Amino acid sequence: MDASEFRKRGKEVIDAIADYYESLDQIPPMSTVKPGYLYKIMPHEAPEEPESFDDIQDDLQKKIMPGITHWQSGNFFGWFPSNSSFPAMIGDMYSTMFDVVGFNWICSPAVTELETVVMDWLGKLIGLDKRFLSIKEDGTEGEGGGVIQGSASEAHIVAMIAGREMVLERIKADGQVSDDEASSMCHKFVAYFSDQTHSSGQKAANIIGCRTRIIESDKDFRLSKRSLVAAIEEDKNAGLVPFFVCGTFGTTNTTAIDDLAGIADVAESERLWYHIDAAYAGAALTCPEFRPLAAGIERADSFNFNAHKWMLTNFDCSAMWVADSKHLVNALSIHREYLPRVKGDTSFVKDYRDWQAPLGRRFRALKLWYVMRMFGASGIRAHIRSHVKQAKWLEDKLIEDGRFEIMAPVVFGLVVFRIKPSAVCPYDDYEDVDPNVVNKANTDLVKAIQADNRVFLVGTKIKGNDVVRAAIGSTIGKQEHVENLLEVVLQLTSNVVNSI
Ligand SMILES: *Cc1c(COP(=O)(O)O)cnc(C)c1O
Repeated sequence: MDASEFRKRGKEVIDAIADYYESLDQIPPMSTVKPGYLYKIMPHEAPEEPESFDDIQDDLQKKIMPGITHWQSGNFFGWFPSNSSFPAMIGDMYSTMFDVVGFNWICSPAVTELETVVMDWLGKLIGLDKRFLSIKEDGTEGEGGGVIQGSASEAHIVAMIAGREMVLERIKADGQVSDDEASSMCHKFVAYFSDQTHSSGQKAANIIGCRTRIIESDKDFRLSKRSLVAAIEEDKNAGLVPFFVCGTFGTTNTTAIDDLAGIADVAESERLWYHIDAAYAGAALTCPEFRPLAAGIERADSFNFNAHKWMLTNFDCSAMWVADSKHLVNALSIHREYLPRVKGDTSFVKDYRDWQAPLGRRFRALKLWYVMRMFGASGIRAHIRSHVKQAKWLEDKLIEDGRFEIMAPVVFGLVVFRIKPSAVCPYDDYEDVDPNVVNKANTDLVKAIQADNRVFLVGTKIKGNDVVRAAIGSTIGKQEHVENLLEVVLQLTSNVVNSI
């Protein structure tokens, strides 16, 4: 494929992409293929000779499309949204065009500098404390800064590594133990989570090889200060070394918000690294009315949210900030002659390879730049607010119906509900209803919704209860999609309840 062929075919592909987005409402959101479907219809070796573009296009429609679950559909309410937008796609196309590997400033200065600029823009857009910004008001560099990670999970890993570095350095500086002894203490390090913390916390701990302490969340699914203090006391008495705590702004199950300020008190007094995971709900902070809910984030050591979830930016774009990059860079910076750095004046030079696990990195700042410029702060806020409004509408309608119970406050775009016990067994006393029967009704409802395939959502389990989760937030999602969702839920609930 030469440039002129690319010019022609590329335009066809753009047309196909636009057509796809325009036709999304007409196709069932969930793929229904069975495992192994593709292997059966694919050749088992790469072609020896080049194949025609038309043949590949044809296979894309016939073989790949059936195996796609359409996350961009307005009828997709599963997990959390994975927003895409045309401006972000255009940014990504240019990133693909340059295809530079921007691990050091010197690799391609614009890759680094645009990231620094847009991460400061984004930090200000969500009202982040100025400690987290790269450039101070006087135009000089600060200690903090933002970096784009591939995922919130990667942010969790690097935050934990920075925390370990910070605590190790302190132990060494205290001079009570030798440097070697200090390093060998890592297996005594404990990271603190709640039972609602995303699985990426445990994964990060597995990767770096530290202990974890999973603290039971309170009745509102929040990590409380009191339970954190108690856990830390116990562990210290057992000779362990608390080093890291994660607070969540918008948990995955229910969008609960931990006691972020209370955790900050503990992190300060115990000198722990304090990471805040706002992977999903962080996008809401673009709207000032949500910021009071996040009081305490200004005291974190690191903060992260996924622009690729609810902020109109195609995967992958996980925005992470640290208040002081020193520990991160100390932990992850490794010198080799083939990785040259700028010599002399290094102000405004960030070698982002020292801020992440991989060496190579894509030019991801471009898509964020296109998104922020083409939607503007007002467009981004309107996007968030419209979904929150739709979620509250759904909540009201479910309550109005009488058969449902809302299982967690609807704060953002997530509605967590279930068919309530009295609707499952109307003749029993509420107290006597077998919880297994209620759970089964709700898992049956999720199965029925998935089998019906007019809309897609998933269930989850919270404090022993099976519940239904509807995550509103698709880029093209409108009120009418949520009305469609409600209609499906009401109808299939009747089927489920009648068949008990
Ligand atoms: C989705 C989610 C994550 C994981 O996000 P990735 O970017 O896929 O790693 C982490 N934390 C929370 C609270 C989430 O909702």
